[in-house]
Amino acid sequence: MDKKPSNRAVGAAIGREPAQASYKEMLSREGLKNTKHRNSVLHIIEKSAQPVTAEQIYFALVNQAVSINLSSVYRVLNTLVEKHLIIKSSMAGENKAVFELNRFEHKHYVVCTQCKKVVAVPGCPLEDYEKMLADKIGFDVQGHQLELYGICRDCKK
Ligand SMILES: [Zn+2]
Ligand SMILES: [Zn+2]
Repeated sequence: MDKKPSNRAVGAAIGREPAQASYKEMLSREGLKNTKHRNSVLHIIEKSAQPVTAEQIYFALVNQAVSINLSSVYRVLNTLVEKHLIIKSSMAGENKAVFELNRFEHKHYVVCTQCKKVVAVPGCPLEDYEKMLADKIGFDVQGHQLELYGICRDCKK
């Protein structure tokens, strides 16, 4: 969501993850043990089409008969966030954090104010604007945040 130089640096250093980069590799590169819980949490986050909350991850694990409790889910999530394997963000107006896989891409989101759905959208409209600021006032923009709010197609029906 925001464009942190550190993320870009990490992304450049390790290259873009192939689609099925094994979780074991991702974890061991960060010096983490490849535990069943970490694996399962990463798998659920990767499979979901949009950022998920800790509770959603917890219920998905329970559905898969993975034995885990909610506080363990939080612990796993915190570790993965610390190691930049996943990204934690929160949507304005919501106090729940959501998590998504760190694909080292710069993305923006549209947020439906009715069903609270969050969907990543392609492209960034601010790249030219940042360049213009650098040219015009010599300001080196290092990041930005942009979320768009509205009503999704389903909620308009
Ligand atoms: Zn909606
Ligand atoms: Zn952007």
